Amino acid sequence: MADGRPVIDVVLLPGRDRSARRRHPWVLSGAVARVLDGGEPATGAWVRVVSAEGETLGFGHYSPASQIRVRILVFGKDTPDDALLVERVSQAVARRAGDPLIGETDAVRLVNSEADGLPGLVVDRYGDVVVMKLGSAGMSTRREVLASALREATSAPSGFERADAAAARREGVAVHQGPLWGAAPEPRVSIRERRRRYRVDLVHGQKTGFYLDQRDSRDLVETLATGRRVLDLFAYTGGFSVAAAWGGAASLTVVESSAEALALARENVAAAPQTPETAFFEADAFRFVRQDAGHYDLIVIDPPPLARRAGDAQRAARAHKDVLLFALRRAAPGALVLAFSCSHSVDAKLLRQVAFAASLDAARPVQVVRELGAPADHPVSLDHPEGVYLKGLLLRV
Ligand code: SAH
Repeated sequence: MADGRPVIDVVLLPGRDRSARRRHPWVLSGAVARVLDGGEPATGAWVRVVSAEGETLGFGHYSPASQIRVRILVFGKDTPDDALLVERVSQAVARRAGDPLIGETDAVRLVNSEADGLPGLVVDRYGDVVVMKLGSAGMSTRREVLASALREATSAPSGFERADAAAARREGVAVHQGPLWGAAPEPRVSIRERRRRYRVDLVHGQKTGFYLDQRDSRDLVETLATGRRVLDLFAYTGGFSVAAAWGGAASLTVVESSAEALALARENVAAAPQTPETAFFEADAFRFVRQDAGHYDLIVIDPPPLARRAGDAQRAARAHKDVLLFALRRAAPGALVLAFSCSHSVDAKLLRQVAFAASLDAARPVQVVRELGAPADHPVSLDHPEGVYLKGLLLRV
């Protein structure tokens, strides 16, 4: 170990080594039989994961307060140290550089947690600013190492940590937010994605400020919007609306419940070169679609996660169906609908069922034209299927 302390062993219950043998990075608290050597390891410490029979399965970071007790970073028998994190950060950054699948943009997800071999670490770059978000005890106790690795790998002028209060609570670590290196960034920065420009609020915005994960679908909307009356439901800061404006939409209807997000959406849409006739509604989108009498040729439905736990799947599916059903009633013949789910429990299959049910109830036959999802800077590791969260369908009415 780099810090000279011996690695502590986390011994699994008999038969609970299956998931680690399949390279799944999570050891759940219920799979742990005991911790050997000197009692409880320090929060975030490197531990060795050992089968009931005593075989070394891998090494990871210990989270005493979390249901995910260990996040495995290496499967194998060689003891790692923090240099591994530095190397993985540099690899993740290098993989994005010049990736034609990501294309021209100065706003990119640089590290996508498990998919980049760095469970608990999310890093987004917005122009000159690198924003880091820590979601595990292991990463939270290594903020300096990670910050210096990111600074080195990106040469970005400044780094900023965005707090993840919910994760900090789950992981039993202190909530932390603030500059990491360089000058403290302005709360708002400008980004350029293709030819589209957005103002992003790094400090108060949702996620790390912007839904980078919808980039490919923004491209699609820009391509499809020409001459169409566009309805952008759950618009946040107008990601899709700006794309539609660039694409030559005939009109824009922008619906978002957060006043702050909608204010930024107004700014973003106004900054597009040709702004069609636009109406902004600070409103509940579920209610809006029920009451609205408009007709649309392109509808984007991008709700927040509607189910946190698996048991909520049916409730979430009903909510997704509800909004899609009413949206279909507002859809002109030949209209295109982009319907998304970022609810974990509403997966691609359930989303199709939801679309089918809505189409039946609305008495509007619908084709699935394309499956949609997160772009190349948000990869998913096959070892960690839980990493899939954004699913979408392009539908033709
Ligand atoms: N489409 C956006 C991201 C949407 S995230 C983009 O591409 O940038 C979901 C958004 O829905 C958030 O901005 C959230 O504030 C908003 N929201 C949550 N509940 C809502 C509701 N009931 N009605 C309207 N908007 C809502």
